Amino acid sequence: MNLLIIGAPGAGKGTMSELILEKYGLIHVSTGDMLREAVRNETEVGLKAQDYMNRGALVPDEIIHDIILERFSRDDMDAGFLFDGYPRTEAQAEDLTLILNETGKKVDQVINLDIADDLLVKRITGRRLCPKCGDISNIYFSPTKVEGICDKCGSEIIQRKDDNLESLTKRLEEYHKNTQPVIEYYEKMGIVRHVDASKSVQEVFADVENILEELCK
Ligand code: AMP
Repeated sequence: MNLLIIGAPGAGKGTMSELILEKYGLIHVSTGDMLREAVRNETEVGLKAQDYMNRGALVPDEIIHDIILERFSRDDMDAGFLFDGYPRTEAQAEDLTLILNETGKKVDQVINLDIADDLLVKRITGRRLCPKCGDISNIYFSPTKVEGICDKCGSEIIQRKDDNLESLTKRLEEYHKNTQPVIEYYEKMGIVRHVDASKSVQEVFADVENILEELCK
């Protein structure tokens, strides 16, 4: 099963991905996570990407093409994958189709997490991340038991550099301009399912599970 999960920043792509992976055991490919790791390790890609990321702008398609090709060069992708936060532009979607065609693979389902922009401000500005185990919390909706400390592994949690109002505004602008055409691209293939992402995590995941169970039949 090969899946894409698409949604505005704060729509819950990371949280849903975690739950999907737990249940269906797919390979998780998050271009955002890959880029953040590259920035942390100060690799060539990281040095090129960090300025775009801090501004909330999209990293150029050529850089994304290279990291995706590199990811496909590892042979674990046959187990089925979940792309999270990719493709973000129509050019990336076309590129992915070409890459998949070459390896005899295809995207089976696109899950679009639908949510109104005004619900995203607290989700994003309150979001905290554990740099060690990746656990996501929110100071407004799901605070950690001890302030500033990850519930799962006890590490100090951090706020992403781009999780502020200024960057969110830019990221939403980019999302509507560039990612809407991606949804339309896959709509034409008839493989998009829309999920109301304003509901609770449990409710959203129940909807996602129904879609995936149908797909597995
Ligand atoms: P995310 O963790 O998916 O919210 O991504 C964080 C940031 O990484 C984005 O705001 C972009 O700057 C960059 N990024 C992640 N994925 C992509 C992509 N597929 N195309 C371009 N930029 C990306």
